[in-house]
Amino acid sequence: MEEVPDLIACEGCDAIYPRAQLRPHEAASCRRCGTPLARYWGRMHERMLPLTVACLILFFIANAFPIVRIELRGLHSETTLVGAVLTLAREGMSEVGLLVLLTTLLFPLVQLCVLLYLLLPITLRNQPPLGFAILVRAMQAMRPWGMIEVFLLGVLVAIVKLSGMAHVIPGAALWSFVGLTVLLTAVLSFEPQAFWRLTFGRKGEARP
Ligand SMILES: [Zn+2]
Repeated sequence: MEEVPDLIACEGCDAIYPRAQLRPHEAASCRRCGTPLARYWGRMHERMLPLTVACLILFFIANAFPIVRIELRGLHSETTLVGAVLTLAREGMSEVGLLVLLTTLLFPLVQLCVLLYLLLPITLRNQPPLGFAILVRAMQAMRPWGMIEVFLLGVLVAIVKLSGMAHVIPGAALWSFVGLTVLLTAVLSFEPQAFWRLTFGRKGEARP
């Protein structure tokens, strides 16, 4: 049987390049349009499973405990993320609440669960799970909709503004959100095409 050449297509302009080994800290980009083609991943795939499990633990803490506690004249108030969504709905801002629920809770959780489902059999048995292709594509489609970092930025701005009027105490969930944002950046930077190469065993990288 004729051997199929190991090629990579540019997502920006469809130019085709042969793959080649990349060395540490090297990345390849398209000569024609500059779109990134591949980068050196080293042993990143071995760290993906523990990072994903750590993300899920932080995600649980971030949603189970209060984000901040606000104290003013002897009164205090604290809420979790779900509590904030319910309050938004009660105050007649259901659309905003739904958006927060989807981008901060649902999409990141589904992304992490899909990642865990993909990585467990790949890491432990070197086998792709059922529905591998659909799930890798779904991960790619969901990526822009996870916005925990935007939520965190909003919370930090609110804390700074409120701290002039009341005593604001950051809760366990806030620190978990900080950790989760950092870990998620590392986990979600693992490109979907790297899953295909990891699973189907091609070791080369692109060379434009
Ligand atoms: Zn290109």
